[in-house]
Amino acid sequence: MLYRKVPKTGDELSILGFGYMRLPDKKGGGIDEDRAIRQLRYAIDHGVNYVDTAPAYHFGKSEQVLGRALADGYRKKVRLATKLPPWSVRVREDMDRILATQLATLQTDHIDYYLLHSLAKESWEKMKTLDVRAFLDAAKKDGRIRHAGFSFHGDIGTFKEIVDAYDWDFCQIQYNYLDEYNQAGTEGLEYAAKKRLAVMIMEPLRGGNLAGKIPQEVQAIWDDAPVKRSPAAWALRFVWNHPEVTVVLSGMNDEAHIDDNLKTAETSQPGSLTPDELDRISRVREEYLRLMKVGCTGCRYCMPCPAGVDIPGCFSLYNAHHLFPHDRSAKFHYFGRHGGLLSDISYAGLCKECGKCENACPQHIPIRASLKDVSKEMEGGMKVIIPVLKAGLWCMNQFERIKRIFSRRPVQE
Ligand code: SF4
Ligand code: SF4
Repeated sequence: MLYRKVPKTGDELSILGFGYMRLPDKKGGGIDEDRAIRQLRYAIDHGVNYVDTAPAYHFGKSEQVLGRALADGYRKKVRLATKLPPWSVRVREDMDRILATQLATLQTDHIDYYLLHSLAKESWEKMKTLDVRAFLDAAKKDGRIRHAGFSFHGDIGTFKEIVDAYDWDFCQIQYNYLDEYNQAGTEGLEYAAKKRLAVMIMEPLRGGNLAGKIPQEVQAIWDDAPVKRSPAAWALRFVWNHPEVTVVLSGMNDEAHIDDNLKTAETSQPGSLTPDELDRISRVREEYLRLMKVGCTGCRYCMPCPAGVDIPGCFSLYNAHHLFPHDRSAKFHYFGRHGGLLSDISYAGLCKECGKCENACPQHIPIRASLKDVSKEMEGGMKVIIPVLKAGLWCMNQFERIKRIFSRRPVQE
């Protein structure tokens, strides 16, 4: 296992981090907890020392299983990361309450790396108003958290604004060879690293889509390489090739994949890919772009849209929906990121057809017509489902409050 240093703290973190968000299933349904615990401990025994979870993963079960997985001495072998969900925060006190619950669930007295989950423009504005920076300062001061960061799914302008708005130790961005110009992208990666933030990478395999069942045309390019590697190994090596990257998170739930990733993490030094290998990755990228429904490169020249549409974000998930038909998560992510469930409202159907974006697009994409297709395919049921999910989240929060009131001990006289 190779390790990279967190610039502000000197912490040595394994370049492969364990993302505890896609735990293995039992045959009859539900999490196969014994297997999930075995897999994590195996990875730790082979050098992984960074584990990332969140209350949102497996509807809270990930933190519960992780608390048990880190018993028997495993807690002190890792740096533990979890997240504050902005959508569950209504008042400042909620932040302290949620963190207290997380410490109890994870069976620990501190979180090493604590993130604000999935920030974008609106959620950041909300958290700023609720004084999240004072909360982070206080939690660091009294030792409940060691380092503060944020994970991000918005646009590059907002990303830079957030990086500059607080003394963060780290951030977490989506990055892989198809997302160099999407969300924070390469520009954001370099910007954060220049400001001495450690950068944790999520979705290095785009939710597993750059490994597993990949298009034949892409597989042919990999098969032709003189050095044989799995598609996952190529994708991970691309990310680790960047010296600005600290940890790459992989949501592993299969023993063979864990072994493959551990092996790749033994030799993936920054700058270790040859010009020929980088050229091969470019050819794979071009092939994916050719196969995509909308040939959007994510350059963002068309942004901002006066109607609030996240044009490249909508195209990216629409493409994923078509490129990887076996994976049904693209629509779910579309609801979350563009429908206003977890992030700002920015869906394709908001388009007012002003045409401003089309003049700016170097790919000459008929953006208005394409957005209509996106809206038709991706937004069915969204206006009903989002309020229902929001109401569900609200009920869960109320339930937690009521539970707390009834579990308070009477004050001793
Ligand atoms: S045509 Fe639609 S997507 Fe393009 S800038 Fe105008 S409102 Fe935004
Ligand atoms: S300008 Fe064109 S290629 Fe660039 S992000 Fe917008 S739609 Fe995509």
